[in-house]
Amino acid sequence: MDDAPKPQELVQINHSPSLHKGLLGWMDTPVEIREGIALYAGKPQNLEYVGLPNPREWNPMDKDWKLPENWKQILLDGLRDRIDRFRSLKLFMDICVRCGACADKCHFFIGGGDPKNMPVLRAELLRSVYRREYTLAGKIMGKMAGARDLTEDVLKEWWYYFFQCTECRRCSLFCPYGIDTAEITIAGRELLNLIGLNVDWISAPVANCYRTGNHLGIQPHAYKDMIDFFCDDIEDITGIRMNPSMNRKGAEILFITPSGDVFADPGTYTAMGYIILFHYLESLGLDITWSTYASEGGNFGFFTSHEMAKRLNAKMYAEAKRLGVKWILGGECGHMWRVISQYMDTFNGPADFLEVPVSPITGTRFENAASTKMVHITEFTADLIKNNKLKLDKSRNDSLTVTYHDSCNPARGMGLLEEPRYVIKNVCNKFYEMPENTIREQTFCCGSGAGLNAGEDIELRMRGGLPRANAVRYVHDKFGVNMLACVCAIDRAVFPTLMEYWVPEVGVTGVHELVGNALILDGEKERTTDLRGEPLPGMEEEEDV
Ligand code: SF4
Ligand code: SF4
Repeated sequence: MDDAPKPQELVQINHSPSLHKGLLGWMDTPVEIREGIALYAGKPQNLEYVGLPNPREWNPMDKDWKLPENWKQILLDGLRDRIDRFRSLKLFMDICVRCGACADKCHFFIGGGDPKNMPVLRAELLRSVYRREYTLAGKIMGKMAGARDLTEDVLKEWWYYFFQCTECRRCSLFCPYGIDTAEITIAGRELLNLIGLNVDWISAPVANCYRTGNHLGIQPHAYKDMIDFFCDDIEDITGIRMNPSMNRKGAEILFITPSGDVFADPGTYTAMGYIILFHYLESLGLDITWSTYASEGGNFGFFTSHEMAKRLNAKMYAEAKRLGVKWILGGECGHMWRVISQYMDTFNGPADFLEVPVSPITGTRFENAASTKMVHITEFTADLIKNNKLKLDKSRNDSLTVTYHDSCNPARGMGLLEEPRYVIKNVCNKFYEMPENTIREQTFCCGSGAGLNAGEDIELRMRGGLPRANAVRYVHDKFGVNMLACVCAIDRAVFPTLMEYWVPEVGVTGVHELVGNALILDGEKERTTDLRGEPLPGMEEEEDV
């Protein structure tokens, strides 16, 4: 302890990383791959399983990354191919004026202070090589024109920083030209995958999903067992036995949700909420089935390449066709909805064999889903509430003072802003918004999306999650908020750790957990606990007896 620095010494430490370490600034600042920030390398068996190139054991901390001999040519050819294929990428490479409006909008830069996490600089990592290869100024003037050769150091910098971007698109909101740095990260990761530079936290779920239909590698019988366990718990709480149908041909609607809801707390309580809601609606005409094959809504392929995203997404329409349903209802997930809303139709559609979704309970026709034939469950439930189809007891959620985190992809990727709020306000009495510049389109990322929710990069995640946690802290201190609601399975998996670290007084829930608590079922016994088994307000003593 005698060696511990004194407070006066601690305050003199300069925590600001210097942007300019050499004559030509950031280009001369070599990458330093740090533990706590970097992810583990993808394992060869997972790359092999889905046919990704260059499967081998390697370690980002080693000097030798065991690259193919012609790695540089592969990347330059890959870049040329993508510039030709994606006009947006070509545009984003050319039009940035380096105004800096995006610079302080990334949660990783705000929370961590590393200049290469400024979106403008993250994009420059790729753009500098693009300039060298594709622009006259870059070819002639090199660094003076912001251009540089693709060297092994540059490659390592790409890998390090493209896996420090959660593809959340917050920065794009503030760019006067609409440059979407997430698209640049997506292209960068695609290039890295061409030479086998994947990360374990992405390649393992991708391989699992390809093999079993879900990221966790759960086989159909285990998936069914989990649903049965939920039904046991629901029966204990409500006195009612529910029988959700699985893989049922001829059902009207197929339900697909992220596997995180079925296998990881607190997402499991959200899954219980879905089961209760579907049971409630059975007598009103809902004819729905779960699937143990399309057992994943999420798509870690999206964090690998467009091709892999398409491949993993294909099971949704394939299963809908196999079962002969009319349309698909989707659960609470983040990037699942980005893929559905922006890519699915062109990836694997048009799904002409499906019908434009119509709620069998209210008759509402979801025109917004006319193309994809998929409806988000908060849209579905909001419509039920709006049409007075649900009997709800809000007071069952009275021990909770709730705020809502707009998950990046549903908010910015599909404009889902009002429906979750509408549902929450109808099932909870106490709801408070976080500050305006941290919600809706401007929402701050959880800091762990796009395949970053591993253990080895925990320092990065806690730093990147700081802006979100800071806003939660604000409403906790001001209004006594003790529950953070969200509509994303990754959020539900990562927020408990983030809250534990920054705002330990606040728990995490899905929206349909709150719905499941509030729904009044015909013939149910008096409920004494919520879905987590915690005593309902006013029932504390009964539980103690
Ligand atoms: S805001 Fe847009 S134009 Fe300005 S530096 Fe960022 S990406 Fe470039
Ligand atoms: S997409 Fe999100 S994580 Fe990536 S640079 Fe922009 S703000 Fe940062």
